[in-house]
Parts: sequence; C-alpha cells; structure tokens
Amino acid sequence: MEAESTVDHIEAGFRPSFPGFWKDVSPAEWSDWKWQLRNRITTLEGLEKHLVLTPEERAGVILSGTKLALAVTPHYFNLIERDNPGCPIRRQIIPYVGEGSVSAAEMADPCGEDSHMPVPGLVHRYPDRVLFLVTDRCAAYCRYCTRSRVVSGAGEQELETDFDQAIAYLEQHTEVRDVLLSGGDPLLFSDEKLDALLGRLRAIPHIEFVRIGTRVPIFLPQRITPELCAILKKHHPLFMSVHVNHPRELTTEVRDALARLADHGVPLGNQSVLLRGVNDSLSVMKSLVQKLLRCRVRPYYLYQCDLIQGSAHLRAPVAKGIEIIEGLRGHTTGYAVPQYVIDAPGGGGKVPVNPGYVFFHDREKVVFRNFEGKVFEYPEVEESVRSTPAPLHEEAFTS
Ligand SMILES: *Cc1c(COP(=O)(O)O)cnc(C)c1O
Repeated sequence: MEAESTVDHIEAGFRPSFPGFWKDVSPAEWSDWKWQLRNRITTLEGLEKHLVLTPEERAGVILSGTKLALAVTPHYFNLIERDNPGCPIRRQIIPYVGEGSVSAAEMADPCGEDSHMPVPGLVHRYPDRVLFLVTDRCAAYCRYCTRSRVVSGAGEQELETDFDQAIAYLEQHTEVRDVLLSGGDPLLFSDEKLDALLGRLRAIPHIEFVRIGTRVPIFLPQRITPELCAILKKHHPLFMSVHVNHPRELTTEVRDALARLADHGVPLGNQSVLLRGVNDSLSVMKSLVQKLLRCRVRPYYLYQCDLIQGSAHLRAPVAKGIEIIEGLRGHTTGYAVPQYVIDAPGGGGKVPVNPGYVFFHDREKVVFRNFEGKVFEYPEVEESVRSTPAPLHEEAFTS
C-alpha cells in the first residue's frame, strides 16, 4: 500500500538532528553531552540567531525569566522549523505570551504534590509507591511543565530534597515497593552520583522496583553513554519512562540511545502529554506510537495536560484524547495504545479515561461494541452455577 501522505511518509523515517544549525561543530563535540549542555540556547538572542520569532514568542521569552527558564539543547533545537510558529517542537519548548495568562482553574501545583510530601522531595500518594524528586534541573524545559513551580531555578519556590531524610523514610516504610525517580531529570546526575543513589535504594530490601522518569534520551541522547547503561544494568529491575510527544522527536540519535538502553535490559515506556497544535490529532499520535514501538518503547500513558498556570494555549479538550484512544484501540497494535489519564486536580492521582464500549451491564449480560461499532452481547455465567461455591485454595499463592 502507498503511504497515505507525504507527511506520514517523512515522519515514518528517522532523521538525524546533526548538524542542522551547527554546521561548524565537529561530530566529536556534538556527541559530548556536556558540550550539548554548555551550548544550550537560553536567551532571546540565541533564539533569534536561528529562528524568526513572533511577537507572542518574544514576549513569552521575557516572561520566562521569572517563571520557568528557557533552555533548549542544540540536539532538540535542530528539530524546530525556522519560520513556522505552528511547529510542534517549537510549541513545546519556546516560551509563549499565553504563559502569562492565568485562568481561575489553573494552579501552581496542579497535582497537589506539595501537600503529599511526608519529607521534602518525596511524594507519597499511592499505597505502595513513591515519587522521588531528586533534582530541579532538566536538559531543556517543557513549557507545560507540571512542576514549573520548582524546576529550572527561575521561580520563587525551591525544591528542597533531603536525601538522608528521604532514604530514612523509605527504610521505615516497608509498604513502599516501587520508587520512581523524577524531578527535574535524574539523568543529569553524574554517573557516580546516580550509581550511588540507585545503590542506596537497592540496599533497602523491600524496594522491589525502581524506575526513572526522564526526557534526557529525547533532549540529550548523547547522555546515554555505554558507561551510563552499564550502571543502570547493575540495578535491575529498573524501568524507564521517557517522554516523547511528536514523531519528529524520534531522531536517529534518539533511536540509537533508546536501543542502547533496551540492549542493557531497561524496559522502556513512554509518557506523552496531549498538547494542542503538537499531537492533538489521531494521525500524529498513530505515527508516534508506531514509531515508538520501532524503538522498543511501549506507549504507557497519554496525559491530559495538567492545569498548570499559563497552559491554556497548549491544552486540548478531553474529548480529543478520547477520540485519539478510540482511533488507536483495535486499529493498531495493542502494545501501541497508551492509557489516557487525567491526573486529578488537587491531588487525586491518575484516573483512566476511556471511550465508552459498554452500553449495558447487569447480572445476566454485558452489551458492548467493538472498535468498528458493531454491537455484541456476552452472557454472564448462570445464577445456578454462580451460586455454587468455587473450590477453596488451601493456601494463598502470593509468592
Ligand atoms: C505517576 C505517579 C506515580 C506512578 O504511578 P504509576 O501509575 O504507577 O505509573 C507515583 N506517585 C506519584 C505521586 C505519581 O504522580
């Protein structure tokens, strides 16, 4: 079959980010993650050297100085279209005047994290797992960041993680079996610091599972060195959630970094945020999730954008998220379909939001539809059978 359109065809392929705007830089420098960090674009002048900005973007850059800093790695910057203010990469990373318009429903801490911190930097909302905010720095800053109140160092509030207190809390709380490292981006730590932190967590016997939430493989794929991969491999079972919103972000460099992680046994998931003008379209999302599978990344969550202050221009309606899931489920590989969730405003945690497939359900039957809209009926086990008790287990098989 022919590709549906030229755009689909181009997005389906992987393209290198290098050299782009950096024609004078050697491949050796480009591949050095510290060079990438040192050469981030952080100023209006830096942006305007390469891009034609709109007045709304220019005003946004000025605002960003007191809220969420501007920073873009050269690797990611190369994915921006020079003259197109509607560019899906640009909308994620270049400040916009709308960041200064705060509506009544928007909050500085939309998921109520600060009120769920038993010790500074540790969010304990769910019974068996915690979110550990280990740094306030990222390789680049997403304009819709749910933690913009503390990340980047530009705002007034500071992340005051106390590592000794956090480790002591985890040692005492034997119900915690899963620790999610996030921030900020934990992969900005040096190899030694990350190894030591993972080692401290691994020394706690009841912690079964560790994962890292990171956008470094996307913003800064050069950081995923063989040395880093070897460290991660020592601390298995260790999963990683990356954050890709648009298929163009999966460059050849990113694909290769993800392959290195997968080759070291790190199971990879992706968390996307539904963003207006970025990925609020079925064709973009379908192309993204299929391209993720080619990179051995399993789409995990699709988030409704949190009610972060100044995010209205980036938020898409919930109906759009449901429509996208409906257009994926059954129409493409089941592994490619993420769970669409809303992180309940104020701190209720992630709540799944699904298209409606079930029309009717009582003790006798379920009436439902499939992905094509065909209606089916599933009869429940008859009352006479159900009322006979099932044979009892002598022991509970919990281990
Ligand atoms: C998202 C999140 C987790 C992890 O949730 P999973 O559904 O297990 O991925 C844990 N704690 C907090 C506070 C979170 O926001």
